[in-house]
Amino acid sequence: MRGLMLEGLDLRKPMSGHKLAILRIQAGVLKVMVNKLLERGFYWILPVILSKSTDPLWPDPDFSIEKRIEVEIYGEKVSAMQSMIVHKRVLVSLGPEKIFILSPNIRIERRDRAATGRHLYEFTQFEVEVAYAKMHDIFRIYEELITESIKYVKESLPHELEILGRELRIPQAPFKVYKRIELEEKYGSSWQDEISKIIKDPVWVTGIPRQFYDYEDPETGEWRNYDLILPEGYGEVISGAEREYEYEKLVMKLERDGLEKSSYKILLDLAREGLLKPSAGAGLGIERFIAYITGARHVAEVQPFPRIPGIVPDV
Ligand code: ASP
Ligand code: MG
Repeated sequence: MRGLMLEGLDLRKPMSGHKLAILRIQAGVLKVMVNKLLERGFYWILPVILSKSTDPLWPDPDFSIEKRIEVEIYGEKVSAMQSMIVHKRVLVSLGPEKIFILSPNIRIERRDRAATGRHLYEFTQFEVEVAYAKMHDIFRIYEELITESIKYVKESLPHELEILGRELRIPQAPFKVYKRIELEEKYGSSWQDEISKIIKDPVWVTGIPRQFYDYEDPETGEWRNYDLILPEGYGEVISGAEREYEYEKLVMKLERDGLEKSSYKILLDLAREGLLKPSAGAGLGIERFIAYITGARHVAEVQPFPRIPGIVPDV
């Protein structure tokens, strides 16, 4: 495939035992994560795909979107979902205060991102949002989901790991927390790749200037947001934050970022009425997490229908 010699991407051949093992592991991991959150009283919400409001993905230090998918339906302009951040903020404000969603995202990444092994133009996020939560509450939730699902795979799917030749260690929670600014001073702009190669267990990195909806402390200028970085060069697997909820601040940040306020009308209406609850949350890239667990070389190896930037398959 245009220089990408990857496992199981030929859709005219029966699936290999390798790929079937990956699919069984993925099912096990999703079962564990879903069950954990249901036990903890979370509402399981189904995703939406087309909406007047989606994640601008801008400004973001990792920005690499080549095209946004916008279509007209019933005389109205809608976008394909880039992340359900707006919907999560609205929902936790209106009733269900703890939610999760397995949410398909479309992000038409630049084609040179095919070679990173970490980018797809369609993928699924395991999204969580909790009203009144703080950063550390979200850290604890995902640490449990990650350690418990890795434990499950090691205990219940050893045959699958053997087929894949994958040795996995159960990470030690709580994971270490680093400040982005300190990593940048030490490793430069490629800090994410550098630390991903060094660490043994996943680490949290906080304070990353990006989208308007992440909370920025007006006194210190500190961003109360975070990424989770996986070891072995697998890199970022979770992004999330405490959220902005005040009307004036949201308006100021939307204007600062040059974004259309009309695309975030519902957030602004709720905030103006004092109905937008503070919350925190995050999204885990399911394919990236499964690629890490299974030791895949490219994240598309875990997809039944690979979505590699720049390569549009027949199905
Ligand atoms: N899902 C992320 C969040 O909850 C946003 C993203 O998709 O990067 O903040
Ligand atoms: Mg991210």
